[in-house]
Amino acid sequence: MSDINDLRDKMEEVTLEMIKLLKTRTDIAKKIGEVKKNIGKVVTDETREENLRTKVISVCQEIGLDEKIATKFLNFLLNESIKVQSTNKQTHLSIFLKAKELEQQGKKIIHMEVGEPDFLPPTIVKDALEEVYDKGFLKYGQVRGMPIFRETLAKYVNKKFKTSITQENIIVSPGARFSIFTAITTLLNPGDEIIVIEPAWPAYKDCALNSGIKVRTINTTLESKWEPSIEQIQKTINPNTKMIVLNYPNNPTGKILPEKLQDEIIEIAKKNNLYVLSDEIYSEYVKESWKSILSYNYEKGIVTQSFSKSHAMTGFRIGYAIADHKIIEKMSKLQALCLTNVSEPIQYIAMKALESDTSNNNKTVQNRLDLLIQKADELNLDIIVPDGAMYVFARINKDGFDGVQFANKTLEKGLAIAPGEGFGDYKNFIRISACQDEKTLIEGMNILKETMSEYQ
Ligand code: PMP
Repeated sequence: MSDINDLRDKMEEVTLEMIKLLKTRTDIAKKIGEVKKNIGKVVTDETREENLRTKVISVCQEIGLDEKIATKFLNFLLNESIKVQSTNKQTHLSIFLKAKELEQQGKKIIHMEVGEPDFLPPTIVKDALEEVYDKGFLKYGQVRGMPIFRETLAKYVNKKFKTSITQENIIVSPGARFSIFTAITTLLNPGDEIIVIEPAWPAYKDCALNSGIKVRTINTTLESKWEPSIEQIQKTINPNTKMIVLNYPNNPTGKILPEKLQDEIIEIAKKNNLYVLSDEIYSEYVKESWKSILSYNYEKGIVTQSFSKSHAMTGFRIGYAIADHKIIEKMSKLQALCLTNVSEPIQYIAMKALESDTSNNNKTVQNRLDLLIQKADELNLDIIVPDGAMYVFARINKDGFDGVQFANKTLEKGLAIAPGEGFGDYKNFIRISACQDEKTLIEGMNILKETMSEYQ
């Protein structure tokens, strides 16, 4: 009996020592965060982290500790450092909120920072809004969504992608964002790793961080046409890696991967038993061909979709995920906990929206992108012509250029744009959205030009 008490005392002592060391480590992380902010460095340093990971593994071998546990613990520590350092990150959302505040004060702002179509949802949506009350979709419903809606979605998807999914493969969510959150949160555990190819929409990273999951970023460049290399991906995978996120057509670059490269990435994912979370929310906005992850028939693939962009229904908050029924089952448990179910009237309206032809939306946005590309060219901005989506991700080659500062300057002149930093280590980039009519876009690009002229 006294033996066990001695051991327990010892364990307590070690635990308290670890807590004190955690405090020391957190204080150091804060200081490093300050220095990084002063010299304009981004929070995550993959090379530095990789060096530490290698050292930890080698210590494990020396002392005989399970590497998997040690690296999971390391991931927890690395995430804590990122959390204490990630204050005040300026993204398209923070600029959007500032812009809204200025509008409240009576200022006119051109919104080229958010990806929100300026056109209206299909007219069928208006009729559906009127008729839903009488249809009686007004009560609590199934967690995964109304069976009739999921059935209709399954048919819609099967027709489009020549698949054979059923309603069991679908969960309806309040926007793609929520499906992304439930997929990452339920399929991965704290200490697991997720690969995000940057530049990327920030929520993948934020959802992972929120759940104690370690993000491994793969940085791509304009020079490499925003394509990750197979070596980069292979090098990043270790026994803790559980998921890779794909988002093509991409926000913010508009990139669609060459088919062969995408095939190879799926092959690697299969070989390493990784989930593939494919956010295909921009699939309706493409210049040429594009291949859905659904076409690989991979049982660990999850596709997220939304009515926000395709049907200009951002405010309705409705989207869905498609995956193997076991994955849907896991996601629905968290959804039940958070939501009970997605609003049934909204589901009915979205179901009706599927009857409309939205191909004109794509034409409108692609024409606007052509205009933005032409204007970007005139201003000597470096870009890769987008294959789809609704954005131009441009590098401004001016000495000392800082996207956040620049976005704040254009905002003062009435133009909201997204700083590149919100999408990863892209300080000298900005993202310009093609979500306004052509006259407004020209006006916006003129403000951009004027602000650029203040730089050397
Ligand atoms: N994924 C990407 C890549 C996005 O750009 C956005 C919204 N900007 C979303 C998901 C979220 O979409 P939803 O409105 O359906 O939540």
